[in-house]
Amino acid sequence: MTQNLINAIEKSKRIKMSVRYLGQRAYLVITPQAHEYVVRFETQDGLRYGRCTCKAGAKGLACYHLPKAALVDTAIQTMSH
Ligand SMILES: [Zn+2]
Repeated sequence: MTQNLINAIEKSKRIKMSVRYLGQRAYLVITPQAHEYVVRFETQDGLRYGRCTCKAGAKGLACYHLPKAALVDTAIQTMSH
């Protein structure tokens, strides 16, 4: 894991965000500042890839919205298999 990703995961644990499932593995993440971002996941060759609509995500960096949505994605994927 890169330091960027580790930092993002740590930050996602500290900040309370709400996540809403939009369907088709897309999640709406709402920050305490009421900013809304959409995180989408896809699985390729058994690996999960995520993308976020925030500024960091647009640059291809790991943001703290992604790990939060990943927790929900994992739960949904587990339930549906
Ligand atoms: Zn983000």
